[in-house]
Amino acid sequence: MTIYSHSRLRTFEHCPLKFKFRYIDKLPAEAMSIESFLGKITHESLEWLYTEVKKNNIPTIGELINYYSEKWAEKYEPEILIVRKEFTTKDYFNKGVEFLLNYYMKHKPFDDNTLEIEKRIEIDLNGDGKFKLQGFIDRLAHNLKNNEYEIHDYKTANNLPTREKIENDKQLALYSIAIRELIEENKKIALIWHYLAHNIKIVSRRTSQQIEQLRQETIELIKKIESTTEFASRKTVLCNWCEYKSRCSEFRKKDKSLGIWS
Ligand code: SF4
Repeated sequence: MTIYSHSRLRTFEHCPLKFKFRYIDKLPAEAMSIESFLGKITHESLEWLYTEVKKNNIPTIGELINYYSEKWAEKYEPEILIVRKEFTTKDYFNKGVEFLLNYYMKHKPFDDNTLEIEKRIEIDLNGDGKFKLQGFIDRLAHNLKNNEYEIHDYKTANNLPTREKIENDKQLALYSIAIRELIEENKKIALIWHYLAHNIKIVSRRTSQQIEQLRQETIELIKKIESTTEFASRKTVLCNWCEYKSRCSEFRKKDKSLGIWS
């Protein structure tokens, strides 16, 4: 039985062909984009920061930037893809430094009662084990001022989402199903996104009815994926960042004289 993840479901919704390449054919990704790499190293740095905070040791800003720089140097590979040619690797590295500096200055001393970091959760969507989902919460906190649990997520994208997009975002709302099962039923849960490029926090809360509707929609989506036999391509601007672009029929030229794809 397949255990789904939010990114697995989202990949299918964005492009069924990409879903097939990644999850059915299990083809290796051609290259990671610099945006994904920046996101990964920034997440690892914030994970380290809060792990230290939980040990009652607040790193200095210098120590945080050193950690980030070392991880970047250790994991960077020349094959990493830069789509926006007006930017260099150094520009992306510096963006990460700026994200962390701004976050650190705004949130120090990080005393919002973090409970867990990179918390793995598993959700049994209809209770019979047929539709399971797993994921990792960047950070779970319990706000003692208003007795609310907080699911925190870090975003390194440049663009801010609209309010409508935030209210319809599925990932953290799905994770809240798992957290709801771990805490008392009547406790409040806040979904919190940190848009690091803007140094702002966006908060959303969902009603029980909204969560129930999301649960049903997710079950239906999994059923649809499992009954799909033709995985169509869906060409969008996101194709420029697709790790399977060179394999995709949308981008391979057909040699008419030979009738083959290049
Ligand atoms: S390049 Fe675009 S259309 Fe092709 S698989 Fe990737 S996302 Fe889909």
